[in-house]
Amino acid sequence: MNPALEVIHQEREPIHMPGSIQPHGLLCVLSELDLRITQVSQNAINILGIAPETLIDRPLADFIDCDRIAEIRACLDPTSEQTNPLNLSVTLDDSSTRFFNGIVHRAISGEIVLELEPIAATAKRDFTQSYRNIKDTLAKIQGTKTLSELCDLIVKEVRQITGFDRVMVYRFNQDGDGTVIAEDKKANLETFLGLYYPDTDIPQRAKHLYRLNWLRLLPDVNCQPSLLTGSQVADAKLDMSHCVLRSLSPCHIQYLQNMKVGASMSISLIQQQRLWGMIACHHNTPKFVPYEIRTICEFLGQLMSTELSVKEANQNLSYKLRLKATQVQFVNRLTNATDFLQALEDAPDDLLYLTGAQGAAVCEGDAKSGEQRIALIGNTPGQEAVLDLLEWLPNHFKDDLFVTDSLPKLYPAASVYKNVASGLLAMAISKPQHRYVLWFRPEFLQTVTWAGNPDNPKQIEADGSVTFSPRQSFAAWQETVRFKSLNWLQCEIEVAIELRSLIVDVILAQSDEMARVNLELKRSNTELDSFAYIASHDLKEPLRGIHNYSNFLMEDYAEVLPEDGLAKLHTVVRLTQRMDDLISSLMHYSQLGRGELSRQSVDLNALVQQTINTLKISQPQKAIEFRLPQPLPTICCDRSQVSELFTNLIGNAIKYNDKAEPWVEIGYVESKPVRNGTQLAHTLYIRDNSIGIPAEHLERIFEIFKRLHPQDRYGGGTGAGLTIVRKIVERHEGKIWVESTPGEGSTFYFTLLEAVKP
Ligand code: ADP
Repeated sequence: MNPALEVIHQEREPIHMPGSIQPHGLLCVLSELDLRITQVSQNAINILGIAPETLIDRPLADFIDCDRIAEIRACLDPTSEQTNPLNLSVTLDDSSTRFFNGIVHRAISGEIVLELEPIAATAKRDFTQSYRNIKDTLAKIQGTKTLSELCDLIVKEVRQITGFDRVMVYRFNQDGDGTVIAEDKKANLETFLGLYYPDTDIPQRAKHLYRLNWLRLLPDVNCQPSLLTGSQVADAKLDMSHCVLRSLSPCHIQYLQNMKVGASMSISLIQQQRLWGMIACHHNTPKFVPYEIRTICEFLGQLMSTELSVKEANQNLSYKLRLKATQVQFVNRLTNATDFLQALEDAPDDLLYLTGAQGAAVCEGDAKSGEQRIALIGNTPGQEAVLDLLEWLPNHFKDDLFVTDSLPKLYPAASVYKNVASGLLAMAISKPQHRYVLWFRPEFLQTVTWAGNPDNPKQIEADGSVTFSPRQSFAAWQETVRFKSLNWLQCEIEVAIELRSLIVDVILAQSDEMARVNLELKRSNTELDSFAYIASHDLKEPLRGIHNYSNFLMEDYAEVLPEDGLAKLHTVVRLTQRMDDLISSLMHYSQLGRGELSRQSVDLNALVQQTINTLKISQPQKAIEFRLPQPLPTICCDRSQVSELFTNLIGNAIKYNDKAEPWVEIGYVESKPVRNGTQLAHTLYIRDNSIGIPAEHLERIFEIFKRLHPQDRYGGGTGAGLTIVRKIVERHEGKIWVESTPGEGSTFYFTLLEAVKP
């Protein structure tokens, strides 16, 4: 609604200052000093048989004895225990007496107000009965478990205590619309249960009054209000916010008349200073409810108000328990998962069940970095639409949560997909990493029963001003709630919040663990390297001894030793030599892991050329064709390590070649940015027409000392060459892999990474 119009309406109808009362009682305004009557309602003639004008300026003491006068004064004193109503007998000039319940209060505008409600001369206050009524109801209220039970009970109790034809509980939702959630009624009346009332049915000013006082009674909807009279009436209108006789707004009266209601009473239900709802009572014919009964009803309203939170918490307890169980399963799954997004995606039904959603999107990564992942589950907007929504969403999170049941109203682009996402519950797990989980709910397509047309609550007058017009017909008609989903329940929102903090805990715990393992790994790697180095170094010495002594034996005792003894000594020497080679390789390998890389700009063309030249010199007997199809890049790397890498790979390509025309090709695939463009990955390869490698050995050839041939074939080395090559590649943060066809040849691919200067 246009707020300006609402203001106009409230200005036009100050419902707290109607200047009139309902005629079943009498209202007097009294002077401060001597309780003289300064204003009185015009129905004095009906109630007391005295013309109102003759009452003006007369002291109250003319009609009421001094003890009662003292009680009236005490009622105004907040420290006194005197409470309304006062049992007053009014003695008239003809000495006749009339009996009243007197209700005294000080108006917000400051005046002393005395309201008189007639009671029968014989009327006695039956406290025992009232107490019994309250005591039983109290026990029953406390015995209820859920909100629905509480509401069902209260309508029955209030109807029993008061005798109204129909008693209902209205509940207001966040938008102010009301629904009838409980009802007890005479059997022949049609039910109002489930009807929705648009927010505009009850003006804000009225809602404000409902918060100020707990109960309102309208004993006769069709009565003629009685105006106040007196000298000050014209000067300042009495603020009647707290008057029990205050006449209701004509608009409200007409509303009730349209409903064919004869009398009505309503009791406020207030939760944390907010008007949560009302207990509304209707009677088909006029009906007066005595003050004492009203007090009981008011007390029940207050009691129910205090119980609301507890009963609401118990509402849907089994649903909440199931949600919890699903949540626990989820967290277990997440704890064991390495990729939490995958874990969420892997349980689509649970993910949707958790918040009662029909669709979900699990997102990670930023679109700009090109590393965005989105998984769509169930009924969701399309991927593009979710990406757009993700651009808008981050600025709208509050405590990492965003909840709405009418997304299209906040984000108009969503109107296109209102059928799947009129409701959105989103949580940010990590904003820097753009990790979000979004749950969607479709438009609440079920038609909602409105008790009127919510789009047309106002009436435009001939002069262009606006007044509220109540429903012309109360027959329920249906209005499709557009662009709105079912409300997200508090328990569903809470599950999302808890899930978020659990996920955050799990992720944090995982990254802590990862950091710990990495540190541990680094430490044990270093230890292993130094152990291997020291061990190899120390092994060499005794080995040298064995080698030397065997040689001495052969030289000095050649004549005395038998032939097979000499042959055995030869084997010992050969084996020690071999062992020395193995230990040297191991030492070299362990050395590679130690120390920092000494990176420098290296032109790989020159480096490869040099390697080829050296290899040609060392193997002059082989006529190898070296192919370089394209120039190689210049990269920032450890020159000596990369040189060793090429020597090993090209050396192998030459060694393991039995073709008549052997060739080796050294090539370059590409250089592409990785890790958000902070590094460049260069991919190179060495191809040959060698003997090839059987598929089952493609991985194993990189293991240390793993050889596929006896040493005397192809002149192989220790079997550490490829292990060393892999270590060099890994130290340059790259990967190595091989493709091979036995009998035809192999291609060793590898990548070397270098940092990109910003
Ligand atoms: P070595 O130092 O003994 O050559 P490597 O670790 O370099 O050991 O190689 C391990 C095994 O991988 C070799 O024994 C050989 O069988 C196989 N191999 C390596 N490179 C090639 C290649 N280019 N073609 C065929 N086989 C190869």
